Amino acid sequence: MSRPKKKVYIKTFGCQMNVADSEHMAQVLAQEYALTDRPEEADLYLINTCAIRKKSEEKVRSLLGSLKALKQKRPQMLLGVGGCVAQQEGERLLAAVPHLDLVFGTHGIYRLPELVRRAFSKRQVDVALMEGFPPALPRRWRPGSAQALVTIMQGCNNFCSFCVVPYVRGREYSRPPAEIVAEVQEFLAAGGKEVTLLGQNVNSYGRGLSEPLAFPQLLCKLAELQGLERLRFATSHPKDLSDELIGLFGELTPLCEHLHLPVQSGSNRVLAAMNRAYTREHYLEKVARLRRCLPGVSLSTDIIVGFPGETEADFQETLTLAQEATFQQAFCFKYSPRPQTRAASLPDQVTEEVKAERLARLLDLQDSITLAALQRLVGQAWEVLVEGVSKRSDQELSGRLRTNQVVNFSGPPKLVGQLVSVEITEAHPHSLKGRWVAELSPASRRPVAEGTPRRLSC
Ligand code: SF4
Repeated sequence: MSRPKKKVYIKTFGCQMNVADSEHMAQVLAQEYALTDRPEEADLYLINTCAIRKKSEEKVRSLLGSLKALKQKRPQMLLGVGGCVAQQEGERLLAAVPHLDLVFGTHGIYRLPELVRRAFSKRQVDVALMEGFPPALPRRWRPGSAQALVTIMQGCNNFCSFCVVPYVRGREYSRPPAEIVAEVQEFLAAGGKEVTLLGQNVNSYGRGLSEPLAFPQLLCKLAELQGLERLRFATSHPKDLSDELIGLFGELTPLCEHLHLPVQSGSNRVLAAMNRAYTREHYLEKVARLRRCLPGVSLSTDIIVGFPGETEADFQETLTLAQEATFQQAFCFKYSPRPQTRAASLPDQVTEEVKAERLARLLDLQDSITLAALQRLVGQAWEVLVEGVSKRSDQELSGRLRTNQVVNFSGPPKLVGQLVSVEITEAHPHSLKGRWVAELSPASRRPVAEGTPRRLSC
């Protein structure tokens, strides 16, 4: 009889890249450790960290402090920190937290089983960054899982002046297309339906490959695969969003009618100081072109308020851009200086008070734009991929439209992982409620309702 596996609990902070990295951690450890969602029974407790904002880093430090008690109660439990904060802090983190056993950086995941084994006898630090795209990791798709995050790139070469990513994730490397296609095929064969391709700037995919392949061609290759219902990607840098890529929206059936396109600011002066390499006008032109190709496409974005030197007039430009672009969703943050970045040493840092006041005004505006966009969906039936039981009530299911809005509705648990038709009955400031209409057979999938985004002309 085989020995029962030990248990690993993984707490993830940050973006979808980190969620994908946590899945990889669970997979490389799977021979010895089974995943648990109960931290109190963990033999190995890993924290996958995010360094993009000071606040996320503070949350990690506070969690580490609170874990001292658990470590005292379970001294045999190993405690490890991985991800961007680990990459940034390395030895310093180990020195600052005496109850920590292991610190591993963004590329340390690939050496995790060995590091964990060694950490039983000696505290470990591994923050080495590799050259090239790291070796493919074993993937085991959870039975019944309809969605997959597939990493296609690592690192970033853009050096936006506020961003720590190039320092903690290293230079940009693209993953060979054959590996990506094989991973997606394996997922589809296991019954998967939706794939999200991940990279810091997927638009620059392909540079440096031995046989170069641009991102639009990768999308075309994947869109041909049998069984792929939905294809998404994140994140896109506006400067690299090509006309060719824009033209694929509405052209490739699986490509969902949603694009996350971080703008960061509406002021050209601030965009230049951020080293974003596009102007407000270029950004809005790309949005207009996209909407000409695919009316009904939904857009989301990231916005930073209070970047060093941002004046009230600059901030007003951000407000007017948000109105013009009519984002369905905007992730808005106060600027926070990050170690190593150029913006951290810029003069004219904006006070916390002004940042907070600007953030509140932007959120107010965005909330009204989001609500209006959600209200337009009411009364129609939309294709929804059911993701699971709703976080708010175990009596409800939760799913996502192709345009990326989340809807909660009543329905039997057997629908999880299925494509269904849901009529939207209510729009709330940040959520939708709906009524399950029918399961969708492949023949009945699109369009589900009048107004379903479809391509007209570019
Ligand atoms: S594109 Fe800019 S913001 Fe995005 S990861 Fe690279 S440096 Fe950071």
